[in-house]
Amino acid sequence: ETTPAPNFIRNQVRDEIAGGQVTKIVTRFPPEPNGFLHIGHAKSICLNFGLAEQLGGECHLRFDDTNPAKEEQAYIDAIKEDVSWLGFEWAGPVRFASDYFDQLYAWAQHLIREDKAYVDDLSPDEIREYRGTLTEPGKPSPYRERSAEESLDLLERMRNGEFGEGEKVLRAKIDMASPNINLRDPILYRIRHAHHHQTGDKWKIYPSYDFTHGQSDAIEGITHSICTLEFEDHRPLYEWFLNNLPVPAKPRQIEFARLNLDYTLTSKRKLKLLVDEQIVDGWDDPRMPTISGMRRRGYTPASIRKFCEMIGVTRSDGGLVDIAMLTHAIRSDLEDNAPRAMCVLKPLKVVLTNVPEDHEEVYEVPGHPARDDMPMRKVPFGRELYIDQDDFMEDAPKKFFRLAPGKEVRLRNSYVIRCDEVIKDDAGEIVELRCSVDFDTLGKNPEGRKVKGVIHWVSAAHGVPMEVRLYDNLFMVEQPDRDKDVDFLEHLNPESLVVCNAIGEPSLASAAPEDRFQFERVGYFCADRHVSTNDHLVFNRTVGLKDSWAK
Ligand code: ATP
Ligand code: MG
Ligand code: MG
Repeated sequence: ETTPAPNFIRNQVRDEIAGGQVTKIVTRFPPEPNGFLHIGHAKSICLNFGLAEQLGGECHLRFDDTNPAKEEQAYIDAIKEDVSWLGFEWAGPVRFASDYFDQLYAWAQHLIREDKAYVDDLSPDEIREYRGTLTEPGKPSPYRERSAEESLDLLERMRNGEFGEGEKVLRAKIDMASPNINLRDPILYRIRHAHHHQTGDKWKIYPSYDFTHGQSDAIEGITHSICTLEFEDHRPLYEWFLNNLPVPAKPRQIEFARLNLDYTLTSKRKLKLLVDEQIVDGWDDPRMPTISGMRRRGYTPASIRKFCEMIGVTRSDGGLVDIAMLTHAIRSDLEDNAPRAMCVLKPLKVVLTNVPEDHEEVYEVPGHPARDDMPMRKVPFGRELYIDQDDFMEDAPKKFFRLAPGKEVRLRNSYVIRCDEVIKDDAGEIVELRCSVDFDTLGKNPEGRKVKGVIHWVSAAHGVPMEVRLYDNLFMVEQPDRDKDVDFLEHLNPESLVVCNAIGEPSLASAAPEDRFQFERVGYFCADRHVSTNDHLVFNRTVGLKDSWAK
């Protein structure tokens, strides 16, 4: 039904394989373990792992761990779990850029010996100032011409912790007048007296992203190093390192447009703020666009992978992707695969006055209207039921085809009932409806009149109480972080979570964490993977029933 969108990288690699320039592709997904993965990362995961899967290659999982201050083991664990959950397998062990610190250090010494790198004593502010601007060339540091011998010695002492943070850096000696600022003697090493989650206290200096990435790709034999467009003007630097070091391979960097989704933040830093400020219930809060949040919300791996196929891969910034496309992907998956059940979110009691108290009746109902491989459900009926408050109106307009005083409606899978009496409490709140059943309407139309409406219901004697969490967008505006002068927190949706004390049909009683259902006429729901138990069921609304995605 949905045709995959163009993926220019896949087309290009297919041509390379057909033309014999490449025999086996090797890609990598290189997250920094400084937060949880989000839907933007899913695009990169599906691209890198997908290429390997579809074109007979392999994909590595490599943690880009050069900034120990912001990184944590917990993030490493979460990232591995997310990639696996999406259904991808990395080739070989989990890799770390820090596995290559010794090699990178040796290569830094190599550049110094070749007169292509030097230790600089300028302060970070001075370095910035000397670097120049887009319109003004940079000027050389007074330390640029220091001897290789001296730089080698200083680098060794930086590594041994003899200097404080910010006192010295190692820089490549490229071109202070280059129109590309990335080539104006970029920093290769910084002093950081930080404990590293992989290397412990071994290092007092850490390599920069630019000095690490391409060489790590080369060491691993990566053929296509795929990254987002912000790195386009880092490519000359990526290539400079590969051309000036005795690396074992020459990977190629290819850029693509990052995913931006409306009503959604895709910045780890901002998502971390939501977590740290306790605006959400952790990184995997079902409102978070993190992979683990979407999982908890009820998204399936297949739906996320399908979404990533639908958006395609281009080099031009595609603007904002409509979140309706994402919800379409999960909705169509659940429509096909989620069993049905009846659940009343806002219960209103109905007493069927012409049904005896000891009346017993159970309907055998298909688990799914189009899936006879799914087990039938048993739906008990009795004298007392619950319907949803929204399915009754005391002063109903003509077009209201649900229940109203004196009006009839069909109970789904059951009889037509008529509302005879409305019972209120002292405060005037409706607390109960007295209705009567037309016993001649089971599986057939009533005599001599049309009853248009069908509503869902649950037998009061058999219904299962449950907590239902109705989630909505976390932000009320399309681009919460567009305006730099407005705090994105101002755009938080105060109704992003509404909790209901609902009553569900008995087939829901044994729901296991992560079981997904369509609550008929209501939406798609998933039993919370952390807190739902059979003693206290908790369902999260994944998505409503109405699809607003226009192709
Ligand atoms: P963030 O900006 O959220 O911190 P990042 O790029 O700094 O993301 P990394 O951990 O370095 O986070 O990302 C790993 C990979 O995922 C990178 O190759 C990056 O290009 C890619 N990626 C990150 N965000 C997106 C996005 N919105 N769309 C597509 N790819 C993305
Ligand atoms: Mg990054
Ligand atoms: Mg970042």
